[in-house]
Amino acid sequence: MFPARPSICLYCRVALTGGEACTWLSHQTADLAGDCEPLIEQVWGAALVIDRLPRLWELLVPGAPPETVTVRERERDRPIGAPTEPMVPVTAVGFRGRVEEGPTAPVPLSEQQAAGFALELRHHGAAGSPVMLRDGATVGFSVAGDDGRVFLVPPGGLRMPVQERPDAVRDRRVVHAYLRHLAPDAGAPSPFPWDEVHTAILMPGDLVTVRAVATVRPDPRGITGYREAPRSILMASGAAWVERHA
Ligand SMILES: [Zn+2]
Repeated sequence: MFPARPSICLYCRVALTGGEACTWLSHQTADLAGDCEPLIEQVWGAALVIDRLPRLWELLVPGAPPETVTVRERERDRPIGAPTEPMVPVTAVGFRGRVEEGPTAPVPLSEQQAAGFALELRHHGAAGSPVMLRDGATVGFSVAGDDGRVFLVPPGGLRMPVQERPDAVRDRRVVHAYLRHLAPDAGAPSPFPWDEVHTAILMPGDLVTVRAVATVRPDPRGITGYREAPRSILMASGAAWVERHA
């Protein structure tokens, strides 16, 4: 299973794994559990509560007391997409190599198993950017560098450039089920209006450049021989940025 994403950056619209903050440290995040009102407000504007007078025919119904009808509307009729993009931390290191064999998990909106995924929901009727949601996570993977070093990325958030061409979505219910899982009680209107899905997956064997904040650690898998220098690895902390090379 990919780690859960219980919160979201209100500006980058990146779904964040537990304990993960947006790399733009000034950005506010919001819970994806509950009614998602702070997110809905970013997307659709504040709720306007309008009391409408009863319709004329209701006044003519004998015995029925006239009541005003409360209508909830939003400031905007077009949603606003993510105004910013997630930022690679300035202290991140870059590392090029091949993703080693390791665990995989079923990718959302796909029948594939992969070490990691990224996806975007876009809406072309949106004002500004069409990106309404960025999601991505990994079950953890290691990258073997050409120089013999290893870069270990633990389970957590994953950012990857998604395919420029949208996926052909045959069944919209699959996307709705995925969104219900991500934000079970999001409320209305949906904070994730969409008309296109763009995805990317990370597989063992992929040639990649990983960028992440990393520390040097002793290799937990390494058995060092007599008089051999202890082996060390680079271990990522926080989200990893991965670019796949053809
Ligand atoms: Zn952000």
